[in-house]
Amino acid sequence: MLVKGKKPKSEPLISVGLILPIDKQNSITISNDIEQKTYIIEAENDHLLVNGNKTKSIELMGYADDPSYTLDPVPAGRGFHWEKNISIQVIGSLKISNSDGSLFIINQLKLESYLMCVATSEMSGNCPQALLEAQTIAARSWLVAAAEQKHLDLGLDACNDDCCQRYQGVGNLSTQARSATNNTRGKFLIFNDMVCDTRYSKSCGGVSEHNENVWDMEPKPYLRGVFDSEQKGLPDLSDPIHFKEWLKNDHGCYCSEHYVNNEQLKKYLGSVDEKGNYFRWEFTYYQNELLKMVNEKTGQSFENISSIDPIQRGVSGRIIKLKISGQSKGEDHHIVLESEYEIRRVLHPEFLYSSAFTINANSGINRTLDKVTLSGAGWGHGVGLCQIGALGMALSGISSDDILSHYFLSSTLEKLYD
Ligand SMILES: [Zn+2]
Ligand SMILES: [Zn+2]
Repeated sequence: MLVKGKKPKSEPLISVGLILPIDKQNSITISNDIEQKTYIIEAENDHLLVNGNKTKSIELMGYADDPSYTLDPVPAGRGFHWEKNISIQVIGSLKISNSDGSLFIINQLKLESYLMCVATSEMSGNCPQALLEAQTIAARSWLVAAAEQKHLDLGLDACNDDCCQRYQGVGNLSTQARSATNNTRGKFLIFNDMVCDTRYSKSCGGVSEHNENVWDMEPKPYLRGVFDSEQKGLPDLSDPIHFKEWLKNDHGCYCSEHYVNNEQLKKYLGSVDEKGNYFRWEFTYYQNELLKMVNEKTGQSFENISSIDPIQRGVSGRIIKLKISGQSKGEDHHIVLESEYEIRRVLHPEFLYSSAFTINANSGINRTLDKVTLSGAGWGHGVGLCQIGALGMALSGISSDDILSHYFLSSTLEKLYD
């Protein structure tokens, strides 16, 4: 496993979880494409059945630089509304074991091979070179900074999904993705002699967010909100009136249609993304829908909802604290949602694109809301690199170095190994 805060001197070997204990998956087919062998593996009680033979665990050794195994099925979009099962082909070796009666599969491979695959799992392999390079350096730095280590208890550097970084094997690999990785091999974003904990999300919506407004962490100088435009200055969208006005215009932002039109977006987004407009969007709910959703997601028992009030916004307009009021058990009652993640989880049947939205509500009889429209901007937490914005910059001829210094202020690029 990678060690937090340690700068690598040579290319590390990393462990990526492909099937996790939480998936509760009991069987899989793995084929070795070079030796033409097929393994049907099942988790049963405390052991595995490999082609019918009982064993505790199995390690399938792979080729370091060539695709070795195809696994079917593997979950993609775990816990999100786009969740599906896919088949993936991977480089490196596999460790398969039984964890509490279900499968646990780890793919061990070289960091650079992993990154090649991340570049085209996060975005399409046909994206312009500068975007793939910027994305790859950000993904490399995030993983090696190991600041989050979300799966430390499982001994993993990352899982294969949006929770960490989307990794879908070599399936979508393109010549561009290979050369983006080779061109940036060993290159990291550095601040204060440490690898940066680079974050990224699909679309900032025009302004990116300060890291401390999204996660419970110290403010990072390289994770400041930036105006995603060639214009200077940072419009402060934490003021609700200013934000509402600001939403009406695209301000020539890199992630707007000004730089990336919807046709280009379809062509360049990763293969499991839903197609849609992420820069500006709208959702409308009626009282009964809202009530059902809020009660289901929060475990409350509101009889009606009378208002939804943002309490605090970050610089990008993202709501970071929000109050929902109504009646419960015949009395006035309210709850406060304390993070952008919680707000997005509660205010959508699945998951809301972002918490940067304004609320337009009509009140009906007994002060309850008849109809609520959320008009919003962006997709994702909005901190660090804006993937669609970076695409817009790359399409207009801006280099990967300039893309990175636009989003990650005060950071520098360093090559840590050959
Ligand atoms: Zn993860
Ligand atoms: Zn953006």
